[in-house]
Order: sequence, then C-alpha cells, then structure tokens
Amino acid sequence: AKKAGRNTIRFFDPAMQASINARVKLEADLHGALANKQFQLYYQPQVSQGLDIIGAEVLIRFQHPERGLISPAEFIPLAEDIGLIVPIGRWVLETVCRQLKIWESSAHTQHLQLAANVSARQFRQTDFVDVVRQIIRESDINPNRLKLELTESLVLDDIDETIRKMHALREIGVRFSMDDFGTGNSSLSNLRKLPIDQLKIDQSFVRDISIDPDDTVIVQTIIAMANNLGLDVIAEGVETEAQRQFLENHGCHTFQGYLYSKPLPLDGFERLLP
Ligand code: C2E
Ligand code: CA
Ligand code: CA
Ligand code: CA
Repeated sequence: AKKAGRNTIRFFDPAMQASINARVKLEADLHGALANKQFQLYYQPQVSQGLDIIGAEVLIRFQHPERGLISPAEFIPLAEDIGLIVPIGRWVLETVCRQLKIWESSAHTQHLQLAANVSARQFRQTDFVDVVRQIIRESDINPNRLKLELTESLVLDDIDETIRKMHALREIGVRFSMDDFGTGNSSLSNLRKLPIDQLKIDQSFVRDISIDPDDTVIVQTIIAMANNLGLDVIAEGVETEAQRQFLENHGCHTFQGYLYSKPLPLDGFERLLP
C-alpha cells in the first residue's frame, strides 16, 4: 500500500489490476457486439411428460472474436451495469419473435413456445411494455407463444409497477414465468397478486432433490403452491433420471436440463424436433 494524498491509501494489486483491465476490455468489446452481430441465441428444449418438446428457453451467448463463446454469467451482469442490457434485451426479443413467426408457418413447429429472460434494468425501462408490444406487432406473432422469465427479486423490487406492466402485457396474451423460483422471498400473498402462468423451480433445488431433505421439502412446497394457485410448474437443471422421476412423482411434469439437452444453436435444436 502506498500513501496517496492526505486520506487515501491506494493498493497496487496486480491481480486486481488484471481483472479491472479484463472488465474494461470486455466492456469495450460488448459495445460493438450488437453491431458486429456477435450475439447468438441458444435454445434449450423444454420437455413435457411424454417427452415432447413444447418449446425452449433462449439463452444468449457472446461469440467473441478472440475468446470464443462467452457465457452470459460473465457478460450479462456487466451489460446490466452499463445499461447495454437494454438494447441487447431488445435484440433478444426481436430475434425470438422472428423465430416464432417462422415456426408459425409449419405444422411441425407452430405449437412451440419460446421463453426469454428479462433483466431488471430492461423491465424497469418506462417504455418496456411499449417496446414489447411493438416487437410483437411488427413480427406479427401469436403472443401466446412468447413467455417472459422474470426473477423474484425483479418482481418484488417495485411490485406495483411490476403488476401494472405484467397486466398490460398479459392483456395481449404474453405469458410469464417466475424464474429461479424459491431463491427469493416472494410470499404466497405476493404471488397471488401477480399475473403469472408458471413457476420455474431453480436448479439449485433440483440438484439434491432426493438427497437433501431441505430441498425435497422446498420442491414439494413449490409444486403444491403452483397447484393451489392454478399455475404451471417447470423444473430447470434436470440432469438425471432420478431427479425427473422424483419431480414427476410429486406433480411436476415439465422439465428442462442436460438430461434432455444442453442449450443448442438453432439448427441443433430444430434437429431434435420430430
Ligand atoms: P438461468 O435463466 O437460470 O438459465 C439457466 C442456466 O442453467 C443456463 O445457463 C443453462 O445453460 C444452465 N443449465 C441448463 N440446464 C442445466 C443442467 O441440467 N445443469 C446445469 N448445471 N445447468 C443447466 P447459461 O446459459 O450460462 O445462462 C446463465 C444465466 O444468464 C441465465 O440463468 C440467465 O440468468 C442469464 N441469461 C441468459 N440469457 C439471457 C438473456 O438473453 N437475457 C438476460 N437478461 N439474461 C440471460
Ligand atoms: Ca431463465
Ligand atoms: Ca436458474
Ligand atoms: Ca437466473
């Protein structure tokens, strides 16, 4: 540590400096990524009881010219911080709706639904509802095929605004799923106020579902809540047949996870379709 000025002490830590440099570099790269068409959507199948693919969750990837595919876990939080998530999120929705429109023209694919993740900063934009309505109008899709995944923390952050926006979109047919459900603090009374269609059981509970008694109880409770409220329930991160069987036995009949498929580029996903 070195004294700098009167009351400040600066630390020169090479590792910290390297991570700051990496962040600055990634930030610069992200700024050009939309224009350079370096984002790609991956599709992870969502599967129903009879093993039919009912749709997919779309998961973004950054195809970096030097580093290869970068995970959203690395760049989405940064994109949130610097506000770039707003145009990126819009691009995701445009791409999703364009794909849904293409699928509408074939009997094999017209039933498919796509679920897109919405970040807090994106949802809080004052024009969020207008933007989504406009994208739906311009792509001319059936809005019932579009599902938006919101996290509990996003929803609870300003529940009145959330309810207003969700109702406005639900009115035109958009569906909502509560992502990472169980990790946040939503109470039954909050859930009741929200126009949601689906609870998505977080993968952290699915992982040890038949081993950890706490997780077993949490999953059973989530499924019971969904049933009581008349909501669909889906489990994410389903990796083993044992997990699937447990979920099935407890009343959850829709699944997403490596047991079926990892997220795939569009052509790979379409090859899974009958
Ligand atoms: P998430 O919404 O919870 O998505 C599920 C994550 O679990 C994905 O990671 C997926 O690839 C991974 N996963 C799926 N099946 C399994 C499994 O069986 N086992 C395990 N261990 N993992 C599984 P991914 O694709 O790296 O995405 C990470 C997070 O990044 C997402 O978590 C989501 O919060 C965010 N994200 C991804 N795409 C978007 C996007 O377009 N917009 C926004 N705002 N966030 C996104
Ligand atoms: Ca999600
Ligand atoms: Ca999750
Ligand atoms: Ca998440």
